[in-house]
Amino acid sequence: EDEVIVSVKQKMHPHAVLIPYPTAGQLNPMLQLAELLQSRGFYITFVNTEFSRRQLLRTGGPGALGGTETFRFVTIADGVSQADHLGPDQLVELWLSIQRNCPASLAELLLELNASSDVPRITCIVANYLMTFTQAVAEQIGVPELVFWTTSACGLMASLQLGELVRRGYIPLKDESCLTNGYLDTAIDWIPGMKEMRLRDLSSFIRTTDHDDIFLKTEMEEVDYALKAWGLILNTFEDMESEVLDALQGFFPRIYTLGAIGSLVERVAGGSRSTSPRLGFWREDRRCMDWLDAQQDASVIYVSFGSLTVLTVTQLMEFAWGLADSNHPFLWVIRADMVEGGAATLPEEFIEETKGRSFFAGWCRQGEVLSHPSIAGFLTHSGWNSMMESVACGVPVICWPGFAEQYTNCLYACEHWGFGMEIDQVVTREQVKDVVVELMEGEKGKEMRKNAAKWKEMAARATAQGGSSHGNLERLAADLNP
Ligand code: UDP
Repeated sequence: EDEVIVSVKQKMHPHAVLIPYPTAGQLNPMLQLAELLQSRGFYITFVNTEFSRRQLLRTGGPGALGGTETFRFVTIADGVSQADHLGPDQLVELWLSIQRNCPASLAELLLELNASSDVPRITCIVANYLMTFTQAVAEQIGVPELVFWTTSACGLMASLQLGELVRRGYIPLKDESCLTNGYLDTAIDWIPGMKEMRLRDLSSFIRTTDHDDIFLKTEMEEVDYALKAWGLILNTFEDMESEVLDALQGFFPRIYTLGAIGSLVERVAGGSRSTSPRLGFWREDRRCMDWLDAQQDASVIYVSFGSLTVLTVTQLMEFAWGLADSNHPFLWVIRADMVEGGAATLPEEFIEETKGRSFFAGWCRQGEVLSHPSIAGFLTHSGWNSMMESVACGVPVICWPGFAEQYTNCLYACEHWGFGMEIDQVVTREQVKDVVVELMEGEKGKEMRKNAAKWKEMAARATAQGGSSHGNLERLAADLNP
């Protein structure tokens, strides 16, 4: 009898199938969205690919993907073999393998779910924007699909222009010299909701001379896919990107901004947190928190380039010596696969010179690090999750963008939001030292801290009861389960 009751109860839930792309920067926000929907009564099926499943089990242990009564993890085939170690340099291979192998496996899974008497019928699919193949499957089973576009709204708007940039002849670039001869400074003044943009501030995928460039082509496909979706989810909030968001309304029928998504989770699902697992791709170094505890308030620079950025040995050395020369304490996340050509080894002299004011971690719990009182600034690759986490914690940023919409995020942080400073592509120790010192000791740093505190306040308001993101979550839940 108990079983019957459980089963009837489960059937009453709306059922969201969540399909992230299997990298850390894409998986994290989808897990947060899962918590949000679960808190609003949804039954969740969270779809890993074999690749992400293996990674998550490796760090979280065998019980990591156990799930709960209303939260189930499932896995689809992606064709990536056990033997493949996929580093950041194999992003394209991973993407291609997923596109080839996942559609059939996903269709089978969804049909099975809908045929099962243990789970409610599927109400909707929410897929990461890189998972373009899911649209056909959603159509096949006849449910609405939402796309979770995990970049900034300004990043999305810039990507929406790629087709137009090709038509108007701006891209692909005529030749390599365009990268250095000032061509990238060409003004692009016709993008809705975005003023004073230059080519260089748009997606990194414009930096190609190849008509068939795989990144450019797939980004354009992703945009087409998102434009056809029933709804769009963004990890930003209305006050932060109001002009661009207004302009995006003209392209998408339904937009739900849920940022800063980490803060929204704290607000609405804080109590049920223990039911959802903490998952990650790398084992976290918890000792860095003890080290931070021992530092003075607002004294430490946190340095991390996200989950995918790869540095050359020269770039690593310039950052290292710049940090050393700044004379300020720093916590630096150096992933095992972060440096081109193998292990990231830092010279003895550098370790010796920064002893007592440096801490190196392979991976950390970034949300917690950024909210630690000792943190004064964040030297970042400008990935959108990192930027929003920094905003939520009121931490000013030093940006070193290099991939996808990171250039756009950087421009907005520096020029519009006023809590960022940029480091040039060709990084030098002198500039690293100068910006760190300016951030920690200068007038500009003071101004940035003030602005960061203002955005923190705005993010808190957006995610609190009565705020825009909070309201959008309720609207999303109601629209999907009328
Ligand atoms: N992150 C983390 N620990 C680290 C470094 C990064 O938990 O040591 C998380 C970070 O909080 C963020 C994600 O990894 O949620 C990185 O996403 P982002 O969009 O910033 O960059 P990407 O990795 O996609 O380039």
